[in-house]
Amino acid sequence: MFDDLTGNQQVKTLLRRTLAAGRVPGAFLFSGEDGVGKKLFALELAKALNCRKPVETSSDSIGAFEGCGKCPACERIAKFNYPQSSDSDDWKGVIWTDHPDVGMVVAPKRVILVEQMRAVEREANYRPYEGKARVFLIEDADKLNEASANALLKVLEEPPHTSHIVLLTSRPAMLLPTIRSRCQMVRFSPIAAEELEAYLIRNKIAKGAEAHLRARVSGGSLSRAVAEGFDDYLDQRKAMLRVLQALALNDDRVQLLRSAEEFNDARHKDEYESRLDILEALIRDAWALALNAPPDKLVNEDLLPELTKIAERLNSERPASWISQIEEMREQLIVNINRKAATDALLLTMAAAAPPLQRRRFVPK
Ligand SMILES: [Zn+2]
Repeated sequence: MFDDLTGNQQVKTLLRRTLAAGRVPGAFLFSGEDGVGKKLFALELAKALNCRKPVETSSDSIGAFEGCGKCPACERIAKFNYPQSSDSDDWKGVIWTDHPDVGMVVAPKRVILVEQMRAVEREANYRPYEGKARVFLIEDADKLNEASANALLKVLEEPPHTSHIVLLTSRPAMLLPTIRSRCQMVRFSPIAAEELEAYLIRNKIAKGAEAHLRARVSGGSLSRAVAEGFDDYLDQRKAMLRVLQALALNDDRVQLLRSAEEFNDARHKDEYESRLDILEALIRDAWALALNAPPDKLVNEDLLPELTKIAERLNSERPASWISQIEEMREQLIVNINRKAATDALLLTMAAAAPPLQRRRFVPK
């Protein structure tokens, strides 16, 4: 049932209305940040369509029937049979759940392939084997290239009424307008920190100060809030705080380049990007403090003493230009640049935005 899912009440209402009206479109586009529950909502929709003992929504008066979550159909829809190997050939087909009418497509590498969309087209044309509807999820739909997007368009143009395709993406703008216009758009919001904190405590994933912090630093993403390796995260945050301190307090280039190494020892692109996220969150917090925001509005509330020191040295232009420099860096990361050179350049540019007060120290006596 949708009530088992955390957050996005407005999406629950929308999908319930669609179900109650009996007019579930052939294609949806679920957009929103990673980890806000797009895939779980899509599976919940698949359950509602295929459940053997659908239950009527009790929490409002919409009167939709939803998946019970307990019957064999619902239970099997919850289980994906992911390939056991990382060999990209094994990921080229439809990845089925234990239910023969519900499957998903995942890009084997950087792009979703034409043959994958042809497989979806073929499967979508079959009538359901067991349930009432066939449902296909397309994960990271922004990875469609022109060829595979065109192959998908064929399915979207005339989908059999028993088949539904749900595109999932955190970057809807990357999709062709022709694809977007054929899908019903459903926007997911970040999950509120209070809801995440309650979830962590209820499911015994974290408690007390850790639950509070996890909920706030996860940026509204449930998967990030529950992620393992929270200690790693705290280490990375410490390193990024040192970067910010070198920028705002010391104006010491040597230390700054040493801090650049803390960035560059990221093992892969995702980890590197998560460091950028952390640095950005720290900058935003210091910026908010400089503008006299109340401390309980901060993401990194537990670092209040350190952030206050930084905030005292900030004017309002500096953090704004830092954020835009980081954003530029992110865009460059999409094309494979030399990360190390780019980080050094980024930090030196950020340092160059020093306010006049600090520059004065370099004037020869
Ligand atoms: Zn069921």
